[in-house]
Amino acid sequence: MCAELGGPGRCHRCGVEFPEGSVRYKVEVRVTADTGGELATVEDLEKELDNLIKVIEGKDEKELEQDVHTELTFHLCRACRDEYLSSPDMPLDRFFFGS
Ligand SMILES: [Zn+2]
Repeated sequence: MCAELGGPGRCHRCGVEFPEGSVRYKVEVRVTADTGGELATVEDLEKELDNLIKVIEGKDEKELEQDVHTELTFHLCRACRDEYLSSPDMPLDRFFFGS
């Protein structure tokens, strides 16, 4: 799944409009499923398969796809980019919404 929040015409953080042909900065967030490599035994695998089947039965194709792989794209102005790079550990929601 690939979500384009807002449009590329404005900074996703501060809302400043990008002048025609100006440089903007793209932040791509990729979220993928990972088991952590901890499935050691056949029992673990069977349990995991059972869980998966239950999950699959309750969801539609789009939800499933989102579970496994989600991509978000944000566009930032230079000032917001600089701020983002100076505090990469800041939670994204706080960075974008100041909450
Ligand atoms: Zn900005």
